[in-house]
Amino acid sequence: MIKPDAVANGHAGKIIDHIITAGFQIKAMKYIHLTEEQAGAFYEVHKERPFYADLVSFMISGPIFAAILEKDNAVADFRTIIGATDPQKADAGTIRNLYAKSIDANAVHGSDSDENAAIEGSFFFTAAEIF
Ligand code: ADP
Ligand code: MG
Repeated sequence: MIKPDAVANGHAGKIIDHIITAGFQIKAMKYIHLTEEQAGAFYEVHKERPFYADLVSFMISGPIFAAILEKDNAVADFRTIIGATDPQKADAGTIRNLYAKSIDANAVHGSDSDENAAIEGSFFFTAAEIF
């Protein structure tokens, strides 16, 4: 996902270009404003963490781009190009280093495993929407 902060700040196009230039193929994409129920369900895994309510509020503060990306070693390579969760700790030239301001408004989401990538992909897309 390209999160609401990056969309609102006008960085979505540059982020998509960064992702494609890094060798990822876009298999599906949509521009969507999540409901509170959808954002809460997407981040259900974090519901015991202290930042959960703020995270859900932030994720519904504006539209996002959701996408399914394909590449060899996609999960690990995507986490490399997005950088650390806290943009202050993200390596130079990573998406979060370039386009994010804070740990909560950190520009992008990336799946943390192949298993979760499949679950998160089917959260947003039907089989007919995936190339
Ligand atoms: P990542 O997005 O790098 O996989 P996590 O899965 O740990 O990071 O957290 C999910 C999201 O929750 C983060 O991207 C960020 O938006 C938010 N978040 C994580 N840790 C914090 C924190 N300490 N304070 C506020 N928001 C946080
Ligand atoms: Mg995560």
